Amino acid sequence: MNCMQEVNSTTKQALYQFMKDQDISLLKYHFDHYFKFCVQENNIQVLPHHFSSHKIEGLTVVDEFGTSFSYERDNPKVKQNFTLCHELGHFILKHDGNYFAESIDNQENLLEREANVFSAVVLMPDIVLLSKIYYSCETFHQVQNSLAVSKQALFFRLLDFLRKYYSGKDSEIKQAVETYIEGKNASIFRLFHDIREQIIEEFHQFQPSLINQVKQRVRKVGFVTSLEYPELSNQDNWQAIKASSINLKTWLIYNKGKSIAYVWDKEKFSDKEARKKAELQLLLM
Ligand SMILES: [Zn+2]
Repeated sequence: MNCMQEVNSTTKQALYQFMKDQDISLLKYHFDHYFKFCVQENNIQVLPHHFSSHKIEGLTVVDEFGTSFSYERDNPKVKQNFTLCHELGHFILKHDGNYFAESIDNQENLLEREANVFSAVVLMPDIVLLSKIYYSCETFHQVQNSLAVSKQALFFRLLDFLRKYYSGKDSEIKQAVETYIEGKNASIFRLFHDIREQIIEEFHQFQPSLINQVKQRVRKVGFVTSLEYPELSNQDNWQAIKASSINLKTWLIYNKGKSIAYVWDKEKFSDKEARKKAELQLLLM
């Protein structure tokens, strides 16, 4: 595996796990769900910028106030999207550095190329391309618009993606993508047809994780019970939940043969408040 393929697969691991945990619809996929999730989870600031003297597409700054991403406010929306995912790439791929600036001069730099691969995959994941192009027969324009990417970005993403499966068939791939842009999808269809099972299998390797789901739900509402997640009754899961965040506590109450296990955020509810909420649910069972 070369290092760009490694970045490609690292990106998919994080993204596919997220898609499974959140039960994201493949046909309604939009990078924004994942982007917002990462930004919130890591307290990243996102803001526009503008420099009149020289053009900087995007910036990542890490300092004592935390991490912030910024993007050129005068760029087209699709370009801003690419930039934001690129900045997120530096963060998620744990690139070493406190300052990354995107300009036309540094695109050959290795870390910049890695961030570009990350961005392309997050904007246009393999499984989403397969669903839209092969199963849903969407046109190039429809795919481009629904994923909020530029024509150029989708074009190069399709070439890169297909090259991974059809090495040495560059001209055939290029022709299939070009005719797809013109509205004829027979050739790209054939290419997707033979690799569809591999793409699906890769996606289904990931299963929703109880810990992630519970964590995300508690972050939103502060409290969940085994009525929503029956596996919470299994106390073997408690250790992992508590280990995943110092704010999470777990307990179990029972009455007249019925029981409820529950998890709460100790910053949002005291032990007593959480217990009362659980008792009410037990009463209503
Ligand atoms: Zn960069």
